[in-house]
Amino acid sequence: MTQPASPAPQAGRPVVLRGGTVLTMDDAGTVLRDADVLVVGDRIAAVGPALEVPEGTAEVDATDGVVLPGMIDTHRHMWQTAMRGYGADWSLTQYFVWYYLEHGRRFRPEDVAAGNRLAAVEALDSGVTTVVDWSHGLQTVDHAEAAVDALQSVPGRYVLAYGNIQAAPWEWTADPAVQAFLERRRTGAGDLLGFQLAFDVTGDPAFPEKAAFEVARELGLPVTTHAGVWGATDDEGIRLMHEHGFATPGTVYVHAASLSPDSYHRIAATGGSISVSTESEQSAGQGYPPTWQVRAHGIPVSLSMDTSVWWSGDLFSAMRTTLGADRSREHFEAHLKGETVTQLALRAQHVVEWATRGGATALGRDDLGRLAPGAKADVVLLKNEASPVSFPLLNPYGHVAFQAQRGDVHTVLVDGRVVKSDHRLVGVDLAAVRREVEATVEHLRAEMGEEVWQSGMDPELPSNEVLDNPYQYTDYRSDSTHAAREAAFGRHLAGEH
Ligand SMILES: [Zn+2]
Repeated sequence: MTQPASPAPQAGRPVVLRGGTVLTMDDAGTVLRDADVLVVGDRIAAVGPALEVPEGTAEVDATDGVVLPGMIDTHRHMWQTAMRGYGADWSLTQYFVWYYLEHGRRFRPEDVAAGNRLAAVEALDSGVTTVVDWSHGLQTVDHAEAAVDALQSVPGRYVLAYGNIQAAPWEWTADPAVQAFLERRRTGAGDLLGFQLAFDVTGDPAFPEKAAFEVARELGLPVTTHAGVWGATDDEGIRLMHEHGFATPGTVYVHAASLSPDSYHRIAATGGSISVSTESEQSAGQGYPPTWQVRAHGIPVSLSMDTSVWWSGDLFSAMRTTLGADRSREHFEAHLKGETVTQLALRAQHVVEWATRGGATALGRDDLGRLAPGAKADVVLLKNEASPVSFPLLNPYGHVAFQAQRGDVHTVLVDGRVVKSDHRLVGVDLAAVRREVEATVEHLRAEMGEEVWQSGMDPELPSNEVLDNPYQYTDYRSDSTHAAREAAFGRHLAGEH
């Protein structure tokens, strides 16, 4: 039996998180020890030591925990979440075949809804309070209605990036029904729901995507685009966007991983930002995660996890792999020149900034991604008394980036509302979400047939030839392996405990 959870604070009541290590994510990167964060209504009212609070304020003990702003993911294909883990061994080639060419069109509106709902719950659970739903499976407006309804049924903050990979961007953006949908759903939606247009620019010199950019401009919506994806989008797309005046401060370039310095200059000069999806770039093959390029060119960065078809839906993994990829490359490049890296350029603090304020900047939301009076109350408490990894808490940024994980997310607030309390989601019917996702899996599996379903998960292995070894093998190989091992490790293999 597990302990019953302490009840979540009542909605509408002020909340104070007491005595935590607070990462304010202000310009100076201020960290406050033994400090409080007070939330009144949908805003942060105060941050500091031993705060006086209004009568009736609910108290959350944040002692030994870390309080940080809600994390922001700027690129997640939430509709694909019912396929969690299916593509673990995919490269982009299998992904394109699966979603773009063959099976993505089998998703019904309810399947998009099922994925969105699970992805939304999963995000809240891991302290990701704002997600850009890069929703490029919206084949019909019914799919789009289902996508937004699902998002609004889970109390997080979302941006629906409307897209449709089954039609050309200049076609679906011209559809009056799509435009009417966007106008209708954004009206009165409040600041928990935003919109972008999501499409890619192929680099065709005729620049047919121009018409889609014009629709975005007319509707006043930013564009997010998969840029610098090896074999799919390249420098030509960036040049065309820039020369036609569509590279703007609100533009989010996802991956931007295989571009030339000229493209990075164009992005930097026009104030756009790059969404780095390190786990994705590392296995799918868009290009090397471009964190050293953005450092060299002064481009704002946010983080994203792309899709749960392969990767983990939390930003702890994104922070960790981003640090690892950047440092790994730096060492590798240095060693090729016979040099040694003695000071690392990318710090834990940087990736925590990218996971919080970086996302806010990308979305043009100065009221998110930081803990300061007046900012929106999207707040995360990391605290896990049962975990041997929770102490000592010496380097808070390092702790968040390399030590913390989803299970440490104790409390989450979105817009002042407690959505996770004492490690448990509040008001989420996970069993219902599961049933919905199981129905989608059943539908896809039946549509595709068992053979295709199974083989889709298991791409052919490339051949691997073991290199010729210039050294002579000893008895270890010439003798039977077992006997040689016995001789080499005999005492251990013989069962000495
Ligand atoms: Zn993507």
